[in-house]
Amino acid sequence: MWYAKMYFSEKREFFQYDATGTQGAPNVSREFPFLESLLSFLELDCEALAPALRQIGEDWNRLITEDDRQAGTNAMVELAQLKQRHIYLELLYVRWYDRFSRMGAFGDRGSEEDRQMLDELLSLPEQLPLYQRQIQRFFELVLDVDGAGRDPQQQASRSYLYDAPRDPELFTFRPIPLSFEPVEPGRCSPVLYSGSIRDMIDYSLRSCVERDITVRRCKNCGRWFPQTGRVSAEYCERPVAPGEQTCREMGAFQQWTRKQSDDPVFKAYRKEYKRRFAWIKAGRVTDTEFYDWSKQAREKKAECDSGILSLEEFTAWLKRS
Ligand SMILES: [Zn+2]
Repeated sequence: MWYAKMYFSEKREFFQYDATGTQGAPNVSREFPFLESLLSFLELDCEALAPALRQIGEDWNRLITEDDRQAGTNAMVELAQLKQRHIYLELLYVRWYDRFSRMGAFGDRGSEEDRQMLDELLSLPEQLPLYQRQIQRFFELVLDVDGAGRDPQQQASRSYLYDAPRDPELFTFRPIPLSFEPVEPGRCSPVLYSGSIRDMIDYSLRSCVERDITVRRCKNCGRWFPQTGRVSAEYCERPVAPGEQTCREMGAFQQWTRKQSDDPVFKAYRKEYKRRFAWIKAGRVTDTEFYDWSKQAREKKAECDSGILSLEEFTAWLKRS
């Protein structure tokens, strides 16, 4: 019986949830770019979730102490709404759903497990923002390429004594339930059989260190993004609404425009190109002559860009060619 699986494969992360315990047939399967779940958790408005969590706690308490089945049903309805807010919160729904069904089947209401689950619910309004602060600190001290450097292993080993963080604000690692299995054709991976939101945060952070993945704040939107590709990337590729450009697509275009307008080599080339293009209209050169020239000019420009020709030599060539 499992409720939740989470694993990474290449540059993606995968979640499977199963509220009914029919192994191998999860009723929720979701896929994101690597680290997207942790980053979106970091941006979650936890204060907005607190009233719903408190209400669910009250309902759960009434169910386990007074056998109020309606309160149990209300708790499930609230949890079903809550899980829309973040993929981690789906875990609460499947665990409570499982417990609520077993309670009905076995009549074992009021067990130790029920009380632990109540404690967990009641602590979440404080725990979730605490996890956010600890993740933030972990980024600053270990993963942020611009603050902590390019070597997460080095930074992590400096920041912990055995498994205890040296900084009291830093995330604390604990044993997590990891298995290992084929996750797609031809590929095996560690798989987290998650029992708590904390496990998923833990697994995400340690995976960054193990895989040497740093994070950076995007130059456009200011949000964190993982550097799964080039370490020099300045713009994120975080998911956007359909039809919108990612920051990286937008950034690439802006940089291209800026680079071209500042670049004296490009300017000199562009000026001569325009002048000669006008010659076609005036009948001074044929199309073919013009295209032959522009081909040569691009080759010369490339030589100039790579430092074989100086700017003066290039402009002189443009004049006499
Ligand atoms: Zn961005």
